[in-house]
Amino acid sequence: MRYRSSRGGVEGLSFIDAFLMGLADDGGLIVPEEIPSVELDKLQSLSYTELAFEIFKLFIDDIPEDDLKKLVEKSYSTFDTEKITPVVKKDGVFILELFHGPTFAFKDVALQFLGNLFEYVLDKKDSYVNVLGATSGDTGSAAIYGLKGKKNINIFILHPYGKVSRVQELQMTTVEDKNVFNIAIKGTFDDCQAIVKAIFNDLDFKEKHRLGAVNSINWARILAQIVYYFYAYFKAKPEKLYFSVPTGNFGDIFAGYMAKLMGLPIEKLILATNSNDILYRFVNQGDYSVGEVVKTLSPSMDIQVASNFERYLYYLFGEDTQKVKSLMEEFAANRRLKFDGDVLKKVQSEFDSFRVSIKDTLNTIREFYKKTGYIIDPHTAAGIYAAWQSGYNDVICLATAHPAKFPEAIVDAIGKEPEKPKAIAELESKEKRVSILDNSVSEVKKFIEEKLTND
Ligand SMILES: *Cc1c(COP(=O)(O)O)cnc(C)c1O
Repeated sequence: MRYRSSRGGVEGLSFIDAFLMGLADDGGLIVPEEIPSVELDKLQSLSYTELAFEIFKLFIDDIPEDDLKKLVEKSYSTFDTEKITPVVKKDGVFILELFHGPTFAFKDVALQFLGNLFEYVLDKKDSYVNVLGATSGDTGSAAIYGLKGKKNINIFILHPYGKVSRVQELQMTTVEDKNVFNIAIKGTFDDCQAIVKAIFNDLDFKEKHRLGAVNSINWARILAQIVYYFYAYFKAKPEKLYFSVPTGNFGDIFAGYMAKLMGLPIEKLILATNSNDILYRFVNQGDYSVGEVVKTLSPSMDIQVASNFERYLYYLFGEDTQKVKSLMEEFAANRRLKFDGDVLKKVQSEFDSFRVSIKDTLNTIREFYKKTGYIIDPHTAAGIYAAWQSGYNDVICLATAHPAKFPEAIVDAIGKEPEKPKAIAELESKEKRVSILDNSVSEVKKFIEEKLTND
């Protein structure tokens, strides 16, 4: 399999090159040059890791099969169930539990694999990398747990001091591995992102310290997420197949879209947003225009510009890279795109979308708990609310986080805390490792240089 950029400026990349490039050099997103099709019958009785191996093989031909198999097995050995992503049926919906990894959110499914892949590739190339990133919560902890203890990799993660949830802060800062550096910035998440961007823009510094990223647009992350759409279908086997996906950056739901292109018989993907509703407006009105980010109970969906959206545009416009390029230029200039006519009809034949308010999020958690005794987190609640609104039966709802990550919202909804998994309860007693720095690019650079020269 070869990979190209959605904007046409990069072609013929191998999987490993696509993985290492992250964002395509022409500013586009990396997509496979073909869509492999699958024979569902051959896959349906496989275990999760067997299935992952079979699907990865379709997209990866530059890693020997034995090595790939080991990478897959190692990546999912950190999950607390052999099913990796179990499916449970509750009150007319299926719940696809994606929170059995080390940080109790779905990002582990991709980042556990990415960490091992990174280590493997660097070892082959006899190289090293210093990963730098900013987080508002979930991504940072999943990236740290993906990379901690890996050879030839250090990871520096910035988060806004005092502005991430208690559980997220503990997850990040209690990691003991020497290659993990937590930096709490006296500022906002936007300040953290601005610092990271400024450092990446200092090309001398970037080269000198071999800075790298593991952000949400990496193709390998999408690839890892395709697997559980197939897995859930085989486990649930509903008469008609619908998935409801709580969406922020359009990464998770795009993986579902890929599964559909590969032949999984999905009738529709149901796209759930919170009040940050740019994607809801896109599906229902063809209006993709950037609004203000508002804070909700589902912080991992508090996003306006969906970083993976460009991949969908590529397929929506029949893989026309020039069209994608001009649309993205238009978007960069005007912060809005408009769609109508047959294009919008096509979007609406593939997606339904619903928007959930804070009140409806809490009501959904409460009602679902009353009916089933099962506690859902506020992100999952958005997907369940959307499934209810859709009127379809037997929708598979992606449960993207464990409720114990968001105990405050759960208490608001049902008056009590969800039971804490042992690994979360134990965090409280662990020692924290974090450096608190001023909101300053030079302070952060100085910190990185000091840590790297001490080794
Ligand atoms: C990241 C995240 C989402 C959104 O996923 P995208 O791939 O950005 O659409 C939803 N729920 C949780 C818990 C997350 O961490």
